[in-house]
Amino acid sequence: MSIFHCVCGVVNDDEAPDASCVAYPLPAFIAAESRVVASVAAFFAADSGVARAGWLAAHFGMDYPTDECDRVVVEDIVSREFNDGFIAMFRCLSCGRVWLCDPITNEGHRFAPSEARPTPS
Ligand SMILES: [Zn+2]
Repeated sequence: MSIFHCVCGVVNDDEAPDASCVAYPLPAFIAAESRVVASVAAFFAADSGVARAGWLAAHFGMDYPTDECDRVVVEDIVSREFNDGFIAMFRCLSCGRVWLCDPITNEGHRFAPSEARPTPS
């Protein structure tokens, strides 16, 4: 569990529902999707036996279990490809401020809602 301290004084658990989000720059998202598709296709093309074990070792390393079920392998492919290049976002559940974490400096930048409620149109 991680926490973040908001300027309103509240300490938020970043695993609380609706507190954490991630954003991807569109080119990074498209590139990750493309890598997932290519990896999943290559994994299923390897099929079984020595080819499958070789693909798993080449993709995940020698310690990756060779008998892992297909669903878990695909989940690991997706997790691996989407675990980089994103911008972490946190929302204070008390005041509504949104915090963006700079992926380079790892510093948080906050943005406060400009209005407490939307203006009726
Ligand atoms: Zn707050």
